[in-house]
Amino acid sequence: MNDYEKEREEMVERQIAGRGIKDPGVLFAMRKVERHLFVPEEYRRDAYDDRPLPIGHKQTISQPYMVAAMTDELKVGKSDVVFEVGTGSGYQTAILAELASTVITIERIESLYERAKRIFKELSYGNIICLFGDGSAGARRYAPFDRILITAASERIPGELFNQLAEGGRMVMPLGGRFAQTLVTIEKIGGEMAVKHHFDCVFVPLKEGTERYEH
Ligand code: SAH
Repeated sequence: MNDYEKEREEMVERQIAGRGIKDPGVLFAMRKVERHLFVPEEYRRDAYDDRPLPIGHKQTISQPYMVAAMTDELKVGKSDVVFEVGTGSGYQTAILAELASTVITIERIESLYERAKRIFKELSYGNIICLFGDGSAGARRYAPFDRILITAASERIPGELFNQLAEGGRMVMPLGGRFAQTLVTIEKIGGEMAVKHHFDCVFVPLKEGTERYEH
């Protein structure tokens, strides 16, 4: 018997399907990925609560509904190569990996990068590539990307990431400053940006450079 299966099913029914997410792929991935494995030990029992949780270094794992809504809006196809900025706990990465061909994910805090990499290995995800670095510059050697998801807020749409988006591709991100952000979708149509605004949200900021901590 799978741990937390009942909690996970309830989370999907109430928080995800109950709030209007209908895409079968998104619902499948949210039912399958064991969120409790991605949160720190001390929050395991709260893993299926309707809220973000701390993951250390002043960062958070996003609320389940936010993960589902962003994934839904990204419209990931089976053959897509997805670039994710802000691996964090790795939970959103795993959701994307259930739906895409390959997910390349980058994290600027070394210990979070290492922790996520270990979890993906334990769970045998063969289609996730983990990078350590500043994701605002993208990852040229893997570009172009069909989809880009940024899970940290920026006041500007990072130009280099838009450059690395494939024609016809989509990018989803929280746009705005520390306290007022909107989730937006950016499409590349004929090389131009088409931006759609969705709803207000709160994410940690997209930062420059990297951080390493002594163990
Ligand atoms: N999707 C993650 C969200 C984590 S919060 C989850 O659900 O767990 C956002 C993450 O983005 C943090 O871990 C933060 O360190 C990282 N981040 C912020 N700026 C970044 C940058 N420029 N490049 C890579 N990662 C970044």
